[in-house]
Amino acid sequence: MSRPPVTGRFAPSPTGAMHLGNARTALLAWLHSRAAGGRHLLRFEDLDVGRVRAWAYDETRRDLEWLGLDWDEEECQSLHLERYEAALARLSTYPCTCTRREILAAIEDSAGAPHGDEAVYPGTCRVRPAPSGRPAALRWRVPDWTVCVPDALSGQEACQHLRRDVGDFVLRRGDGVYAYHLAVVVDDAASGVTDVVRGADLLAASPRQVALQRALGLPTPRYLHVPLMTDFRGERLAKRGGAPPLMTLRQEGEAPGRVRAALARSLGWTVPDEVSASELLPLWQGLLAAAPA
Ligand code: GLU
Repeated sequence: MSRPPVTGRFAPSPTGAMHLGNARTALLAWLHSRAAGGRHLLRFEDLDVGRVRAWAYDETRRDLEWLGLDWDEEECQSLHLERYEAALARLSTYPCTCTRREILAAIEDSAGAPHGDEAVYPGTCRVRPAPSGRPAALRWRVPDWTVCVPDALSGQEACQHLRRDVGDFVLRRGDGVYAYHLAVVVDDAASGVTDVVRGADLLAASPRQVALQRALGLPTPRYLHVPLMTDFRGERLAKRGGAPPLMTLRQEGEAPGRVRAALARSLGWTVPDEVSASELLPLWQGLLAAAPA
């Protein structure tokens, strides 16, 4: 069966200024869509209203344009609440009022320590109904599945047993905000996204997202997790970590071709001091051709 034409996306959270690490992911997502002659979407993941900064939408658009990255359609998650509500109604959930502290205490009381880096919700409200009166989150009663997601770039596979490794996770917070995992799955399907290029920090999120796709009868896209950019100390660049915002470079008159060249070199690509976005297309194609999957 032939693959459908590629639809890719870049999905920033408009919670602050884009830094070079976000810019590299944006560049790679664009290269992937365009190298395949596919559609490319820009999706603002702006459900967490408390963290959204109104100015970040325009600055992100300007940063992307400045980098020479275009997109065919734009959407905002905050305009699609009814989609998430409809998806949520199709899943088996239960209300939960446990606080983070209560969850950690319950884990300590039970036999095991938190598995891996994440505290696995022990299912307190699954068996003991949440007291009414407190605002309740909705947790998904996760199926007894092991879900493995291959990464098309690294050839690695992320496998998780939902009950043991993840636990019943939150699909809607107590304050009514829909969870990222639910929204991303619903939107990728609604927009016909075939290929997801995103940071490697989200590889561990993919099994629960694929589980949601299966439970909702939605297609699973191809996943390509790109390495996160680190600073000279090898620490991950993060919005809060003082990484140089792209808008500062832009406003200070830096040449975008030099920034693209720096991003390309950070991936080990050999490029001249200034490079256009389309000149990088063959380098991405080369990377894909060498990928094990
Ligand atoms: N909004 C997420 C972020 O900014 C990306 C989500 C995704 O690509 O699936 O990290």
